[in-house]
Amino acid sequence: MTSTPVLPADISVAKGWAPDSWRTKPILQDVDYPDQAHLDRVLEKLARLPPMVVPGEIHRLRQQLADVALGKAFLLQGGDCAELFDYCAQSPIEAKLKVLLQMSLVLIWGSRMPVVRIARIAGQYAKPRSKPTEMHEGQEILSYRGDNVNGYDPADRNPDPERLLGAYFHSAATLNYVRSILSEGFADLHHPSNWNLHHVKSSTLRQEYQTIVDRLTDALDFMKTIGADPNASSSSGIINALSTVDIFASHEGLLLDYEQSLTRLLVDPTDPTRQKYYNVGTHFLWIGDRTRQLNGAHIEYFRGIENPIGIKCGPSMKPDELVALLDVVDADKQPGKVTLITRYGADQVDKCLPGHIKAVQQSGHIVVWACDPMHGNTKQSVSGVKTRHLMDITRELSQAIRIHTQYGSHLGGVHLELTGDRVTECVGGSMELLDAELLERYETHCDPRLNYEQALDMAFLIAKYQEK
Ligand code: PEP
Ligand code: MN
Repeated sequence: MTSTPVLPADISVAKGWAPDSWRTKPILQDVDYPDQAHLDRVLEKLARLPPMVVPGEIHRLRQQLADVALGKAFLLQGGDCAELFDYCAQSPIEAKLKVLLQMSLVLIWGSRMPVVRIARIAGQYAKPRSKPTEMHEGQEILSYRGDNVNGYDPADRNPDPERLLGAYFHSAATLNYVRSILSEGFADLHHPSNWNLHHVKSSTLRQEYQTIVDRLTDALDFMKTIGADPNASSSSGIINALSTVDIFASHEGLLLDYEQSLTRLLVDPTDPTRQKYYNVGTHFLWIGDRTRQLNGAHIEYFRGIENPIGIKCGPSMKPDELVALLDVVDADKQPGKVTLITRYGADQVDKCLPGHIKAVQQSGHIVVWACDPMHGNTKQSVSGVKTRHLMDITRELSQAIRIHTQYGSHLGGVHLELTGDRVTECVGGSMELLDAELLERYETHCDPRLNYEQALDMAFLIAKYQEK
């Protein structure tokens, strides 16, 4: 018997790019490992480990982000500032998924648009720092750089390459549990008990949310009655829009040694004649505001991968610099390939955003505009910890929405630091958290996050702005 020979697929790669071409460029926020041979052994091992995500999923997210860029869907991206290996446990994962799902339900209700959900999860371990060292009990010690570099404990600050393997295995275990509970109906709207707000203090918030769930349950009952609900009539296990949802993973692509090890040449399922480079360690990667230099190593790495990517844009970004960056990372001008995550601060958004919008409009790149109202609004609390006020967060977000509309653009999404737990890290919201209460459950190892209730506050606020 003869079979048609399968032709080797052509390799599509950006000009002059290779998974390691970033090594020829200047790099910021690099980690100094004392034992290079140990690092090399770890990187070789990482390069043999299997993909955590596959090209089909990456293309599905590309498609969904193209919809966001074209105004047909809304993006919700959120999670911890610094994910810890300890968060790889049942309850924190469930709490985070639950808050993202509940927020997205509110957003869908308000905007009548599909919501694309990307979590900062399963790999958000590396943190850029403003200073390499800090003072601890009168001694200068290395700064905490994230669980994949060193430990938060002041006695454990030396970078250890084994932590890169730890990052892979904790990411894989987290993603495995996310996939399992989603496929078993964690996001199933037919089980409203998963959707309750029992422990939310504010009765207004609870009522507003309950109204949405009740109306949805009514709509589902009606569909069941007329036989239009596929779950009611078919065998179990059917995957449809009501019983499961996509939740994609993302992290900051900071440690390029790690990212390179997880960069693989694979066949593009949307065009099987081509092989392309995918980062198989996550679906979506973003470049931080500190490492987005046009001629730097990070931009060089990012320009070669197929994954959708984000670029954080702070007040120091010049409009022509932004366009130059887009020309490098989105040479083919693919809608939604790049998400611009603006994070200017409530007092600067008016000054910075219009120039960025106009420059991008003239350039012909069709991006997703997301607002990160967290990172430009970090303040010192009276008690001496880093905090953020919901007033400032709301102000930056509402101004971003208004400015986009004014300039013929649209805000496509939000990027928030949040947790599903009842921490006390940000001030205000419907629970009226006071500065004096911050130390009660201040648990973050990096930036202050919205707690469960404050995250829902934000969802209602955005939904109100978008109500149709
Ligand atoms: C972050 O998202 O945690 C972060 C460090 O953001 P930025 O790069 O915008 O400062
Ligand atoms: Mn942060």
